[in-house]
Amino acid sequence: MTVQLLDSKEQLPVYPVDYPSPHWLKFSNQGQFHPLKYLFGISQILTKKLQNCKIYTNTHVNEVVDDESDKGVYVITSEGKRVDGKKIVLGTYAPINDRITMYTKMAEYRTYAMAFEVEKGIIPRALYWDTDKPYNYHRLTDDDTNPQSGKELLIVGGKDNLTGHNLGEFEDRYTDLEDLARKKFPVAGKLRYRWSGQVIEPIDRLPFLGLNPGNKNVYIITGDSGTGMTNQTIGALLIKDLIYGIKNPWKHIYCPSRKMTHNPLEYIKHNLEVSIPSYLDYVKPGDCPDIEELKPGDGCIIREGLWKLAVYKDTNGTLYKFSAICPHLKALVRYNPLEKTFDCPFHGSRFDRFGKAINGPANSNLTEEYCEIIPAKTRTTTVE
Ligand SMILES: Cc1cc2nc3c(=O)[nH]c(=O)nc-3n(C[C@H](O)[C@H](O)[C@H](O)COP(=O)(O)OP(=O)(O)OC[C@H]3O[C@@H](n4cnc5c(N)ncnc54)[C@H](O)[C@@H]3O)c2cc1C
Repeated sequence: MTVQLLDSKEQLPVYPVDYPSPHWLKFSNQGQFHPLKYLFGISQILTKKLQNCKIYTNTHVNEVVDDESDKGVYVITSEGKRVDGKKIVLGTYAPINDRITMYTKMAEYRTYAMAFEVEKGIIPRALYWDTDKPYNYHRLTDDDTNPQSGKELLIVGGKDNLTGHNLGEFEDRYTDLEDLARKKFPVAGKLRYRWSGQVIEPIDRLPFLGLNPGNKNVYIITGDSGTGMTNQTIGALLIKDLIYGIKNPWKHIYCPSRKMTHNPLEYIKHNLEVSIPSYLDYVKPGDCPDIEELKPGDGCIIREGLWKLAVYKDTNGTLYKFSAICPHLKALVRYNPLEKTFDCPFHGSRFDRFGKAINGPANSNLTEEYCEIIPAKTRTTTVE
């Protein structure tokens, strides 16, 4: 792949107007994959070309148990069923079997992206990354919804921040991103989409692909940054070799047990930065003194005596009150008003507005500890 460092304004892609970062990496001739079509293709190969391969969806794994022997490994599903195997590869994005070790070596971030209409061909096709912190990138993609329009989509992304931190600033991140996009690309037209997603950044910048620390039969693929499709393919090739006992030169580079020796200070700083504020929330007051004041469609964290609870009021005024304690390591979640989720500032677990786990490492819902649903009509205050 051709990668070029653009280190002067003259070398930047078209329309660089007053752009703060003069350092860019340009990746030309990129292959572009539609993730769902790619996944569909893989599932077709697995089920049609391989014998005895079945794919089970909607099956939640509660527990992974490694016998630490040649007997193998088994998982327990949320319905209490046991599935046995010789080896298991956990591709659950954030490993669900690990409580601490892996999460001291990586951090979960929210990342933001926006897609603008542009005339086809007006901006050269490539992926550009700047070297700011947090970084920004842009790339182009087809407009599948209207291929005849003569337009394509310019995707501008970045502005990442630690999940569960600086939650009030999230809307500003979109504003900043749009501002940046329009400054840099005056040709950017109508804003068609905006969205955010989760990425896991390893402290030493390389993914973790291989045997889970302390296990004999459990393999993990995680810490993919924003390049998960590439890294997971490397992971699949590597782990296949590890399972079959075939030598692979990548084994040590990606080994999940490797130490973060290249930058121990960043390792310590990161772990202090996420752990201390997370537990300090226990002694702080709630966000909302009176939940009757909470607007429909909004959420918050309240204090009830010694406890802190997560609260969401739906558009009918029904209140959903449930535990604010993240089941992963008992830190307190915070309300994310932009995405209407409850996010854990310690390791980045996320829960939807009704307390259902949507991002690991937490592997169970907030509602399992405590949950109360209070319809509007049973409360004294009416809701508009
Ligand atoms: C804005 C954005 C842009 C990106 N751009 C790129 C890019 O250009 N190139 C690139 O390569 N990557 C990119 N990435 C990264 C890439 O999208 C991710 O790394 C990748 O999607 C992660 O895939 P995954 O299979 O590991 O995790 P997921 O897609 O999250 O899949 C994990 C699966 O595990 C399941 N699961 C979790 N827990 C359990 C459980 N207990 N039991 C059973 N199942 C469970 C989940 O339901 C889910 O289906 C981008 C990411 C973002 C957010």
